[in-house]
Amino acid sequence: MKILVPVKRVIDYNVKPRVKADGSGVDLANVKMSMNPFDEIAVEEAIRLKEAGSAEEVVAVSIGPAKAQETLRTALAMGADRAILVETDDTVEPLAVAKILKAIAEEEGPGIVMLGKQAIDDDSNQTGQMLAALMERPQGTFASAVKIDGEHVHVTREVDGGLETVKLALPAVVTTDLRLNEPRYASLPNIMKAKKKPLETKSPADYGVDTAPRLATTKVTEPPVRQAGEMVEDVDALVAKLKQLGHA
Ligand code: AMP
Repeated sequence: MKILVPVKRVIDYNVKPRVKADGSGVDLANVKMSMNPFDEIAVEEAIRLKEAGSAEEVVAVSIGPAKAQETLRTALAMGADRAILVETDDTVEPLAVAKILKAIAEEEGPGIVMLGKQAIDDDSNQTGQMLAALMERPQGTFASAVKIDGEHVHVTREVDGGLETVKLALPAVVTTDLRLNEPRYASLPNIMKAKKKPLETKSPADYGVDTAPRLATTKVTEPPVRQAGEMVEDVDALVAKLKQLGHA
């Protein structure tokens, strides 16, 4: 079985995003970019399934600018076998990403498409669900455990109030949640080896997908600045303060 892992290049999770002066978006100039953290978890899980003998090949795919090659090389250094870059400088919305992934899945025939539950830049949480709908295949979202069982996959999902395990017929779409695993760091020898692994470059037009945005961003603003707190002497002073502010 082959596993297809879509990985997105996003602003690094340690970076505090700056909003552009004209409010049109987030300033990405000279900002550290990394693999979306949920996608690292997806790469890790795919590699673990391969190591356990449940999969034969892990193919990473990214839709984005030429620099997304770095993200793919990271996936290759972690242990993916080969990579596909669908190169575009446009902002590609989840629906267009899902359409491109569907076309790649038709060519590659993976048993599982393993995505992150959401990209931390747009927080859409849409691509996996849209892909499953377009492919007319079952989906197991927010996975905290994945187990292959012959022609099926058992996905334990993090839902409100607990865990739910669903059994899906393969091929299926799985999206990863935070507690699924702890992704490995790529070792230096593996980073060197990854440079020689195959990386194919395509364009959205190769898959016949129009990536023109369907949404217009009207405004992007910084979150409101939190007001400074105030220390009080004791509980009585706290209660008096709350009463004074009309909270008690
Ligand atoms: P989203 O629906 O945008 O929150 O993204 C959910 C997941 O879809 C991500 O964690 C990735 O696995 C995948 N994805 C979204 N955008 C891209 C992209 N441009 N390239 C590759 N994978 C993507």
